[in-house]
Amino acid sequence: MKKQITNMSKESKIRPRKHLGQNFLIDRSILEVIVNAAKLTKDDLVLEIGAGTGTLTEALSRDAGHVVAVEIDERLVSLLRQKFFQYPDVEIVKGDFLQLNLTELTASSTLISEKSKVVANLPYYITSPIILELFRHAELFERLVVLVQKEVAERIVAAPGSKRYGAFSVAVQYHADPEIMAIVPPEAFWPQPKVDSAVVKMMIREAPRVKTVDEGIFFAVVRGGFAKRRKTILRALSMAGKTYPELASVKEDSIRRILAEVGVDSERRAETLSLEEFGRIADAIALERGELSQGEKHDVH
Ligand code: SAM
Repeated sequence: MKKQITNMSKESKIRPRKHLGQNFLIDRSILEVIVNAAKLTKDDLVLEIGAGTGTLTEALSRDAGHVVAVEIDERLVSLLRQKFFQYPDVEIVKGDFLQLNLTELTASSTLISEKSKVVANLPYYITSPIILELFRHAELFERLVVLVQKEVAERIVAAPGSKRYGAFSVAVQYHADPEIMAIVPPEAFWPQPKVDSAVVKMMIREAPRVKTVDEGIFFAVVRGGFAKRRKTILRALSMAGKTYPELASVKEDSIRRILAEVGVDSERRAETLSLEEFGRIADAIALERGELSQGEKHDVH
């Protein structure tokens, strides 16, 4: 028999809101997997996104120095404020995480720890935007431990050549080293979701996995490449200039030459390219663009 946690939402007769991704964790063993993966100390500031009824919040508050718990649903915010009334180290923030200022959120503690940790059972309908927003401020965090849909977890850890590998995998792996810590069945939640979930740990890298001259060009190459998944990298990048201004000046002939120069077969597809290969293409494009603008200056004079 699994160790179950009584959910306060059930007790308080608060009906879960499906559109807010309210699937509350009720399996204690999964809670332990999450907390263990976070390796908390009293020096840690933890940011929790979607605190719900505070099950995870409470577990985090035991080991961390300070917990900032964000929740969008007013009914749950009231519940959380009552529950953590006497916890000076738990701060309940009401709001839509995607509208909040992350730097302010993580600076709101008097703790000395340089970087924060994110630990959360994420609302499934906005998992990727939340993770991408966290990576936009990657310098603030030491690690992210999140419970997400299994399919999203597979995209996070996917390697080149696998069917889940895409622009999202590259964005995560550029900033972090991800690892799936546990697969979580629907029974671990109340109410139960339709699909399996997974606990994923992402250790934020000191420096991005690939060193590129221009990050904007790197991500334009990645997104442009994957936008036309079924086409060759040559075709996909030749068409990408329409959407990505960073690639607008680089025409098909130049891309063909660049691919040959950096040793990437132009017939390959984006889904087979490693981060390093995307990086080499991006740097060659950056160089090409630099030369172009120098050429243009010559023309003017
Ligand atoms: N942490 C709780 C637990 O583990 O049982 C609840 C997790 S539940 C999967 C996700 C929570 O995120 C819900 O409480 C939901 O109301 C909240 N949520 C949804 N959208 C949000 C948003 N944009 N900003 C902050 N919280 C949000």
